[in-house]
This record gives sequence, structure tokens and C-alpha cells, in this order.
Amino acid sequence: MTMMKKIGLLGSTGSIGRNVLRVAETHPERFCLAYLTANTRVDELIAQALKFRPQTAVIADEGGYASLCAGLAGTGIRCEAGAAALADIARDGEADVVLNAIVGAAGMLPTLAAVEAGRDVALSNKESLVMAGELINHICRTSGARIFPVDSEHSAIWQCLAGEQDRDVEKIILTGSGGPFLRRDLSTFDAITPAEALRHPNWSMGAKITVDSATMFNKGLELIEAFHLFHLDPSRMEILIHPESIVHSMVQFRDGSVKAQLGVPDMKVPIQYALTYPEHLLSDWPRLDLAAAGTLHFEQPDLRRFPALALARTALEKGKTYPAVFNMANERAVGRFLKGEISFPQITQAVRTALEAHEALDPLSREDLLFLCKLN
Ligand code: NDP
Repeated sequence: MTMMKKIGLLGSTGSIGRNVLRVAETHPERFCLAYLTANTRVDELIAQALKFRPQTAVIADEGGYASLCAGLAGTGIRCEAGAAALADIARDGEADVVLNAIVGAAGMLPTLAAVEAGRDVALSNKESLVMAGELINHICRTSGARIFPVDSEHSAIWQCLAGEQDRDVEKIILTGSGGPFLRRDLSTFDAITPAEALRHPNWSMGAKITVDSATMFNKGLELIEAFHLFHLDPSRMEILIHPESIVHSMVQFRDGSVKAQLGVPDMKVPIQYALTYPEHLLSDWPRLDLAAAGTLHFEQPDLRRFPALALARTALEKGKTYPAVFNMANERAVGRFLKGEISFPQITQAVRTALEAHEALDPLSREDLLFLCKLN
């Protein structure tokens, strides 16, 4: 008999969060929701809670608490508010798996709280591992918690590694579309507007990751995320541009054999796999039609166009808290770019400056990591 799995969903109102709920409603006999959380979109959180009937709904922005309570009055659904309530529910909520779909460093503390309590985490919030990968792995070793990747590239690598032995792996190859500016004239990058950066050719995602895909900071974050998930030396992790986003990533073995995982660009597939691993559950979502897709293209990334990739390698090679600074500086710069305060190339400059100025702190210290989150 298959057990009903209770999902604790952090960030339910985002692009990934909504897709998690689509997966859950596709398989009502397999999934239910233990709790839902949002930051500011309180009306959507209320509507989701009325539909999915979790035990608890949490709004991180305390300004939304009164509306949340009013919206869920008489339902028996408990209402909570504040950033601390997110970590509390991740630790104590009655979930079989915590799916963290919060965007940015705000997702780090809930991930830490969940793994400390020995809870498995289906992780979409890549910033958690980039900020605190060493600490999270350290905690998982003692608590027994596991991290299941949701990111499509890491899910692809995970699937390619199934049944394989570590010693047979030569390298992993992360693919990336190259985003909307793969062919744009470099001399016009100063003029890139937020609206242009928010137009991704293949994927529909939240604003931050869409800008990260345009700069390719996203692939840099994924490189660091892969390091903490798969424990390979950075020299054995490559990035390859693949504009069609059909090959989600690959693993090359020591006999020269290469395995790739393919699919239509639809996050429901890796989300569901993270929730059902090692099973592939029946779904009726669109199938990949390779004949219709036609030719697939691959090329080396141009580091002049995408300097974020070189910065990510620098941060990874320097280790310690450099990846955390790489993440925080990018997160702040993307926020400023979206407000029109800095230009597109200045995102990279801000991260470079922050990395150059940084003096390493202790990557296993929660206080040091929180200190980096609060720095301006
Ligand atoms: P969205 O911006 O669409 O959603 C983010 C979610 O996090 C929302 O529910 C939002 O609440 C909540 N949130 C935002 N800030 C805070 C905060 N300070 N405290 C608590 N909750 C907060 O992001 P995405 O769904 O696109 O991305 C989520 C994560 O998944 C990111 O780390 C991203 O890199 C990763 N990812 C996303 C993919 C995608 O296809 N979108 C693919 C692979 C990885 P509210 O709506 O109320 O503001």
C-alpha cells in the first residue's frame, strides 16, 4: 500500500510553489499539504489554504497576519506570522518532506531548521546550499536528513547517477539556455532594461531567477549547489550552453559513456520526482517530441558575455564564506537592478567588488552566515 505523503510547502505562492500544488492536486491519493507559507501575497495564500486545507498557514510579512486570520476564520486552519514562524514550522510542522520554494537567502534558516530536526528537504531554494552548503551537509550527516534536488539540472544529474558508482563518474555537465541575451550585441548590455531581462525564452519563473538566468548567475549558483549535492571537485563540473533547454544536464563516466536526462521544460516533472524518488509516478503532462524539437545545439559559454560564471568558480575555489558573499551580493544587486538603480553589467561588478573585499568567516557558523545576510 502506498502511503499518503504530507508536504510542508514553504513559498507556496511563487512559481515553484504553485507548481508543487499542481503536482499535489494531480495525485490527491498520494499527497496532502501539512502547511503553506507566503511572504506578502496573503490573498493567494488564503485561497490556497481554503482549497488544500493544510493544518497551518504562515505569512512571513507580519503586516498580512490580520488578513490571514480573517480569511481563514472558522476553518480550523492555524495562522502564524513572521520569519521565525517559518523556521519553527519547518522544524516542528508535521510534514514527511519539507519542500522549500522560498526565493533567496530567506530560505536558508528554514532549511537549516528542517535538517536539524532530521526532516528530508526537497530543495528548490538553491540559495540555501550556496549560502550554507557545508553547514547543511554537516547537519545532515548527524541528523540523517536528506536533500532531494528540485532544480531541473540537479534533478537530471541525480537521475543520471541512479544505480551508478561514485568512482565511475568522470564529470558532470550542467546545461543552461544562455537566457535572452545569448546573441545580443555586447556593446548594448548597458542599455538592458528589467523588462528585457525578465523575458526568458524557455522557462516561466519568478523575477529573481529570471534575471539570474539572463546574467547566468543562476548557472553559477547551480555550480556551487552541485558541488554540495554531488561532492565533485570543481574541475570535474562543466557548464555548457544549450539554448533549447531540452537536455537538462549530463553525467560523463570514466569509460567515456555519457548519460543525459531530457524532457520538456516543465518544473512539475523534477518537483514530482523529488517527492516520489525513486519512483516515477504516472502523469499526463506533455511529452517530449524530439522530432518536433528538431536540432539541438550546444556551445561553450563565452565568459566575456557571462562573467558571472568565472566569479562563481572563484567563489567556489576560495570556498569558506565566499559562495555566501557571491549569493548575497548578487541578490542585492538584482533587487537594485529591478528597481532601476543600477545597470545590468553593474550586477556583476557589485558581486566582483564584494568578493574582493571579503575576508573569510566560518562557513559552519550560523551566526557568521546570518551576519553576511544582514550586511548592506
Ligand atoms: P518566486 O519569486 O516566484 O516565489 C518565491 C516564493 O517565496 C513566494 O511564495 C514568496 O512569497 C516567497 N518569499 C519571498 N521572499 C520571502 C521572504 N523574505 N520570506 C519568506 N518567503 C518569501 O520564486 P520562484 O518560485 O521562481 O523560485 C523559488 C526558488 O526556486 C528560488 O530559489 C529559485 O532559484 C528556485 N528555482 C526556481 C525555478 C523556477 O522555475 N521558478 C527553477 C529552479 C529553481 P510571496 O509570493 O508572498 O511574495
